[in-house]
Amino acid sequence: MTKPPRTLVRRTAWPESASRPVVTPLQPSVVYAAESPDALDAQYEGRVPGYAYAREGHPNADVLAEKIDGLEGVSGGVVTGSGMAAVTAVMLGCLKAGDHVLGGDQLYGRSLRMLTDDLPRLGIATALADPTDIAAIEAALRPETRLILIELVSNPTLRVADMEGIAALAKKRGILLAVDNTFTTPRAFRPFAHGADIVIHSVTKLLAGHSDATLGYAVARDPVLQKAIRDTAVTLGLTPSPFDCWLAERGLYSFELRYDRAEENAAALAEALAGMPGVERVIYPARADHPDHARAAALLGRRSGNMLSFELAGGRAAANAFTRACPQIAFAPTLGDIGTTLSHPPSSSHRALSPEARAALGIGEGFFRVSVGVEPAELLIEEIGAAVAAARA
Ligand SMILES: *Cc1c(COP(=O)(O)O)cnc(C)c1O
Repeated sequence: MTKPPRTLVRRTAWPESASRPVVTPLQPSVVYAAESPDALDAQYEGRVPGYAYAREGHPNADVLAEKIDGLEGVSGGVVTGSGMAAVTAVMLGCLKAGDHVLGGDQLYGRSLRMLTDDLPRLGIATALADPTDIAAIEAALRPETRLILIELVSNPTLRVADMEGIAALAKKRGILLAVDNTFTTPRAFRPFAHGADIVIHSVTKLLAGHSDATLGYAVARDPVLQKAIRDTAVTLGLTPSPFDCWLAERGLYSFELRYDRAEENAAALAEALAGMPGVERVIYPARADHPDHARAAALLGRRSGNMLSFELAGGRAAANAFTRACPQIAFAPTLGDIGTTLSHPPSSSHRALSPEARAALGIGEGFFRVSVGVEPAELLIEEIGAAVAAARA
């Protein structure tokens, strides 16, 4: 006698083990089955921990959030499906129609676009001002200004915002200060220690570090505000994928090592580029010739970051020759990858600007931004040096 066939549709119980896995398990389940309606009540009322539905939260997002919370020195941060989802959750969680938002004038391109195109459509007025110029920031404030959004180091000209001045002004006027800390990372700069109310990350970049996960993070110091940001993320469906969270958490184990190595490489590459014929200028905040050198030293201490920019003589023709001469370095408009990547703002992030507007920012056709990775510095300098020489020929 054989048993009647069993259906494959029923879930098999997870095998028991007295020992636990060392590595964070990946939990892709969208739904969680509760024992009874009473048990579900207990969970929703916070009397017992538990998950119900992945859009509202899942273990891989929480493990990742807790790690980034630790880096920023806070608790309760929320992980979102992208960096832009984090910016969205902050804006729509903290603002209402009639409010005014002031943004730095060199924010990440899509953040700029949210301020110039999307928020005004929803009845939220916006303005942009130069965050290195406190008088310009003050002049752009209005009685209904509710939030200021800045990045400490701008892309791609690497200007350093007057964080102390802006934080003092925001505090005096009762305005929320949000800092997108993607470029600097908490390894170099912890915004809450300098008066920020909200911190945002594109985890996609240096934190995850391998260009294989798209994620964001947002946290407010005030728990009431943080609940509003989280609720907005859940309602608008800005939730991250468990697999991306799992990848990013894996990436974080090496974040500090990667950051330190990339930073050392960037300092060495900046020095080498400054001595190469055909390179018109090198922009790196730790260099004495950087316009915000003193402010960078005061805010970042001995940290100088992994991002640098430089301008080749010879315009677009030299730029084309340069990227063709170093195909082993990815010419790709991202940053924070384990390997060095190159971006050319005039043909990517800043292509919508007129040549005159780019020139006003100091971005000519020979301008490159380098996100320095962890490969051996000598190799990097040799490859880039050969490409600079090829571009000059
Ligand atoms: C990339 C980036 C974003 C957007 O992040 P995504 O993960 O691509 O949505 C926001 N701010 C800064 C500074 C960035 O570099």
